[in-house]
Amino acid sequence: MLTILSNCTLIDGTSRAPVNDALIAVSGGRVVYAGSASGWKARVEPRRNETDRDSIKIDLRDQYVLPGLIDTHVHLSGSGEADSQFYAPTGQMALKILSNAQKNLAAGITTVRDLGGWSELEFDVRRAIQRGEFAGPRMCLAGRFISITEAGADHYAGMYRVADGADEVRKAVREQVKHGADVIKMGVTGAVLVEGGAPGATHFNFDEMQALVEEANKFGKPVEMHAHGIDGIRKAIDAGVNTLEHGTYLHQDPNVIQQMAQRGVFLVPTLKVGWDIIHAEESTIPAWIMDKNKATQGEAAMSLKMAYEAGVQIAMGSDVGTPLNYHGENALEVYWMYKAGLSAMDAIIAATGNAARALGWNSWMGTLEAGKAADLIVHEKNPLEDLRSLADKQSLRFVMKDGMVVAARAGEALPKEFFAEKVLAI
Ligand SMILES: [Zn+2]
Repeated sequence: MLTILSNCTLIDGTSRAPVNDALIAVSGGRVVYAGSASGWKARVEPRRNETDRDSIKIDLRDQYVLPGLIDTHVHLSGSGEADSQFYAPTGQMALKILSNAQKNLAAGITTVRDLGGWSELEFDVRRAIQRGEFAGPRMCLAGRFISITEAGADHYAGMYRVADGADEVRKAVREQVKHGADVIKMGVTGAVLVEGGAPGATHFNFDEMQALVEEANKFGKPVEMHAHGIDGIRKAIDAGVNTLEHGTYLHQDPNVIQQMAQRGVFLVPTLKVGWDIIHAEESTIPAWIMDKNKATQGEAAMSLKMAYEAGVQIAMGSDVGTPLNYHGENALEVYWMYKAGLSAMDAIIAATGNAARALGWNSWMGTLEAGKAADLIVHEKNPLEDLRSLADKQSLRFVMKDGMVVAARAGEALPKEFFAEKVLAI
C-alpha cells in the first residue's frame, strides 16, 4: 500500500531549497518519492491504475513536511530537575526514561542519541519500544559516561563508569558494547553541571584517550567526547573521536577548528541548556550551576559561530534532561543555533541530515529521499520563518515513524490505516 502526502511544502533535510506543491509517497516504512507533485505525476502516469488502487491520500494544503528531527544529545534519565539530580529508584527510573522518550517522539523528535543513561535501564526501554510494546523514538545509546575518578560519578551515580588507566578504560568500553551501546561517550574534560567540576580541565591522559578510541573502533563504534576545554579537545581529536559535545572553549584555537573541519569531526554545541538556566528565576537554580553557565554560555556560542564559518559539520543536540531543559522542547536548540550564526536552513539540516551523519545512520534515515526511512513531521507553521515553531505543539499536526503515524493531535481526522498500533497524543 502506498501513502501519499500531497499539496505541502517539503523541506527534505538536504541542502535542497524547499519544494512547493510537493508530494511524498511512502510504502513499507520507506520513502518512495519526495519532490514536486509534477515529478511524481510524470513518473506514475504510465501505470496510473496500479497506484490509484492501493493508496491512501492525505491532502496537506498549506502545511510543511520535514524529516523527523534527530536530537544527538539527550539524557532520558533526567527530566529537567533544577538541581540536576536525576536519581530515582530503579523501577521509577525505567518509567522515567520511557516517559521522557515518549515526550521526544510526541514533539516530533523521532530519533534520540542518549549520551549517559542510567544503570543500563535505557537498553531495556529501547528493547520494549523495538518490540512494539510502547511507542517511542529510535534510540542511539551510549550507555554510561566513561570518566576518570571525579565528583560527577557521585552526583550521577547511575550514569558514570569510572575508569582510570588504559586497561580499565578498555574494560569500560567493552562493558558498554556488551550492553548494546551504539556509540561510546568519553568524558574528556570537567563538566559545567558537576559541582566543583572544572570545565576547562583535561581529564583523561592521551594514552587513555587513544585506548578508548582504539577499543571502540575495534567494535565498529564511534566515539563522542564531552569536552569544554581546548587542551582536552585538541588531544581527543588527535586520538580520533568522531563528535565533540559542548566545545565551549573551542574558539581558543582556530587550528583545532581547522582540524575538525578536515577530519569531519562534528560539533554538537548544546546551547539550549545554558540559555534555559540563564533565563530562569535565579532562586530555582543552585548558585554554582547559575554561575558556571553565565561564565561559559557566550564562549559556547562564539565557538559554534567560528566552527560553522570554518566549515565544521554541526549536529543538533539539546542536552534535554539537564536543569529546566525539558524533553519535548528539544527543537528550540535549532533556534539557538540560528541565533548563534547558522542560517535557518543549515540549523534545520543540523537536526536532520547532518544529525543522521553524526550518528553514522545517514545511509538509511535523516532526510526525505527515496529509500530512506519514512520518519517525518507535519507542521502548520513555516519553520523557516520562525524556527521556534518546530517546538510549538500548536503547529505540529502529526509525527510519522517508519511510515506510520505514531503521534497526532487528539481527534486528528486521518485514515485509520495510517496509524501505528501505539499512538501518542501531541
Ligand atoms: Zn549531556
